[in-house]
Amino acid sequence: MRKLAFGYSTGCNLRCEHCVAAEDLAAGRKMEHDRAKEIIVAMARAGVGGISFSAGEPFLYIKEIAGLVKLCSQIGIYTRIVTNSYWAKTAESADQQVAELKKSGLRQLRLSYSRWHQKHVNRDNVLNAARSCQKAGIDYFISFVTDFSAEDDQYEQFLREHDLTFFPEPVIYAGRAKSFKRRRIVTDYQANCCSMNPYLTPDLDMYACCDAGSHFQQTNFFYLGNLNHNTVEQLFTMSETDRLHNFIRTMGVSNIASFAGMKAREIITYSKCDLCRKLFNCPESLARLRAEASRLAAWRR
Ligand code: SF4
Ligand code: SF4
Repeated sequence: MRKLAFGYSTGCNLRCEHCVAAEDLAAGRKMEHDRAKEIIVAMARAGVGGISFSAGEPFLYIKEIAGLVKLCSQIGIYTRIVTNSYWAKTAESADQQVAELKKSGLRQLRLSYSRWHQKHVNRDNVLNAARSCQKAGIDYFISFVTDFSAEDDQYEQFLREHDLTFFPEPVIYAGRAKSFKRRRIVTDYQANCCSMNPYLTPDLDMYACCDAGSHFQQTNFFYLGNLNHNTVEQLFTMSETDRLHNFIRTMGVSNIASFAGMKAREIITYSKCDLCRKLFNCPESLARLRAEASRLAAWRR
């Protein structure tokens, strides 16, 4: 099933120190509402079964987003909203907002949480939003962005104490976090395959990856095109037929890095997205991988 991260607006009310989308947020662009509805209908026709409203902070335009969620629900598209929970100041106000979204057909809230977000938003807001989802019968999960330092222990402990569903997610060293000192993490040697859901910007540019993909500025490796000049089908197909994109999905970035000559003991110090940046946001490395795609295809156990 095709899925998409829908960037209705890049406006955000916060300025988190780690924000990967900092440059986009400064411009605060927004999609035209009727155009967004047309696009969603076209997405359904192209087989898109899941849309995640992300980019800036969707709750800044929650009435419009709720309308889009309702449309998705009517045409059989699963919906999620990604939010920083600034709006969930009290249990009552959170209950009210979440109940409205439930009526629109929303299926899931993803709550962003980290020591950087929580400099701006009280962590009780995240708790309120999660509890409201539980009451309303909407799925939720907390995306706990971390650099795996001891500073984050107290933030993780808060989630555990309240028995909340959360998944740690490595900070991406792009955007404002580019200046952070990269922590060399060490894990098991694993493939690091990635499902790569595309991301649509308010200007209708589409990228093959919803996380850091629009920020591979050295190579623009994930850029697919613009919906003013291409159909939804054409843009999805472009990524689905790109050999290197498919290797990321099936072979994983660790195996590609090994093929490209990186030592195994260096590979295990990278998170998936940072390894991906190292390989595909470097013009020389990308050119070499494109040239050797056939040999890479045979690089399997
Ligand atoms: S990380 Fe999320 S909440 Fe923070 S500034 Fe960026 S988009 Fe806004
Ligand atoms: S591994 Fe690469 S394709 Fe996947 S989310 Fe990270 S940057 Fe995007």
